[in-house]
Amino acid sequence: MDLDGKRALVTGSTSGIGLAIARALAGAGAKVMINGFGKPDEIAAICDEIGAIHDGADLGDADAIDAMIARCTAEIGSPDILVNNAGIQFVSPVTDFPVEKWDAIIALNLTAVFHTTRLALPAMRAKGWGRIVNTASAHSLVASPNKSAYVAAKHGVAGFTKTVALETAKDGITVNCISPGYVWTPLVENQIPDTMKARGLTREQVMEDVLLAAQPTKRFVSPEEVASLSLYLCSDGAASITGANLSMDGGWTAQ
Ligand code: NAD
Repeated sequence: MDLDGKRALVTGSTSGIGLAIARALAGAGAKVMINGFGKPDEIAAICDEIGAIHDGADLGDADAIDAMIARCTAEIGSPDILVNNAGIQFVSPVTDFPVEKWDAIIALNLTAVFHTTRLALPAMRAKGWGRIVNTASAHSLVASPNKSAYVAAKHGVAGFTKTVALETAKDGITVNCISPGYVWTPLVENQIPDTMKARGLTREQVMEDVLLAAQPTKRFVSPEEVASLSLYLCSDGAASITGANLSMDGGWTAQ
């Protein structure tokens, strides 16, 4: 696919799914701004590898998002492709759910998607072309216990995606979300200890009886699989796919 001349902003792309998406878009010719936290030398190596620039905005902060979009526009051009991917997780029963964790998850996983979208859309409209791809989750369609904030935020992303798709339907812009099941990334690895504690299980039991229990394929989705669907959604062949919530969950939500 030819994305030469396109600019892409991929949030949360120093790791996991976002990094795979940034690699795929850059590989197709897009000029990419990556975003996210990490060790400076590792981030510099990613930028070198794919010819990207990095902005370390904390997307829980609306002003930082504003500055990131402005910097992207000034340094590589306004984003033609916006991938809202940054996300965090916290696992706890709702009665014990720390209020600051709830606020942080809603701010990053949902509110940041609103801010980047509202700031990127005017330039996409002016060009008559745009692609917005939101990394939602199987948890945008179904729930699991102890993930109240995450499930609420991801259901919100799915609804937001549909709304913006309708508002931009005649503008050459598509807005979709991808809903992966469990993908083997640091986000999943890091929730294993809390799930062990919350449910009194061993690491192996969490992997097999909790994480992959719902995934009929019994294997983790790979970040590259999510990246390949993202790349397809950015193609002209996908111009009529808008407002969709595309599952990539090994059959989880078919049950
Ligand atoms: P990850 O932890 O590997 O990557 C998360 C990225 O977000 C990192 O680059 C991190 O630095 C960045 N980030 C974290 N907090 C940030 C903040 N405040 N501001 C800016 N960037 C921040 O996670 P992942 O598994 O690759 O998850 C990426 C997305 O995919 C998330 O939205 C997640 O909810 C979603 N998702 C993941 C899975 C899975 O099983 N891994 C499944 C479904 C959906």
